[in-house]
Amino acid sequence: DVTTTNLESDGYTEAEAKLIEEKGEKFTFQTEVNKLMNIIINSLYSKKEIFLRELISNASDALDKIRFLGLTNPSLLGEGEQSKLDVHIKIDKENNVLHITDKGVGMTKDELIKNLGTIAQSGTKEFIQKVSESSDSSNLIGQFGVGFYSLFLVADSVVVTSKSNDDDQYIWTSDSQSQFTIAKDPKGNTLGRGTRISLHIKEDSKEFLEQQTIRELVKKYSQFINFPIFLYTSEE
Ligand code: ADP
Ligand code: MG
Repeated sequence: DVTTTNLESDGYTEAEAKLIEEKGEKFTFQTEVNKLMNIIINSLYSKKEIFLRELISNASDALDKIRFLGLTNPSLLGEGEQSKLDVHIKIDKENNVLHITDKGVGMTKDELIKNLGTIAQSGTKEFIQKVSESSDSSNLIGQFGVGFYSLFLVADSVVVTSKSNDDDQYIWTSDSQSQFTIAKDPKGNTLGRGTRISLHIKEDSKEFLEQQTIRELVKKYSQFINFPIFLYTSEE
């Protein structure tokens, strides 16, 4: 079972992975999400690298949100390491996993279900409509941010771990089929606050586990990001 194996390589014990699988709640993606995923996969296979732009931009948005909340209520930022608003990217070559972790606002269980299972913005809905009517969608795609689901260009499955100030730490997993699973993290709160996106990199996208490749992409996509981004590589 892919999900179980992936959870184990993220540092979950076999027992914990089983628990997540068994106790996890299953949800199906909204039809629009499936449509968007298909558009992304069919139109952007030659521009796979944009997944990192999208994930860095989401991390930055989440950091902006907690920074803004912290202006009126500094205690929301937490203390010590947790209050340092930054992004950590870790390459785990041994397990073929790329982790992108931010100390942003995080997501509650309900937010994970809504934000990563449905498309709320009318802009994206309009985009899906336009692409399905157009014969050449490439210029349309340039005008819209394609967002979170672009990670499926390089990953065959993903584990999102998130901790909001307003809820316990939750795990969201999907293998890009029609459904995703949500479970309370058996490890408890390990993030403090924020979100970790763990990408299980596809066989044909191994270049995104190369430090050099990631470093150049981070440089390219972090130009307008106002938070530090750190890059780590695990020992092989
Ligand atoms: P957009 O960024 O245009 O809203 P995305 O598909 O990139 O669309 O992301 C969907 C939603 O998922 C975001 O609006 C946000 O609410 C949530 N989200 C994604 N990544 C993160 C993250 N790292 N931290 C907190 N929320 C996130
Ligand atoms: Mg986004």
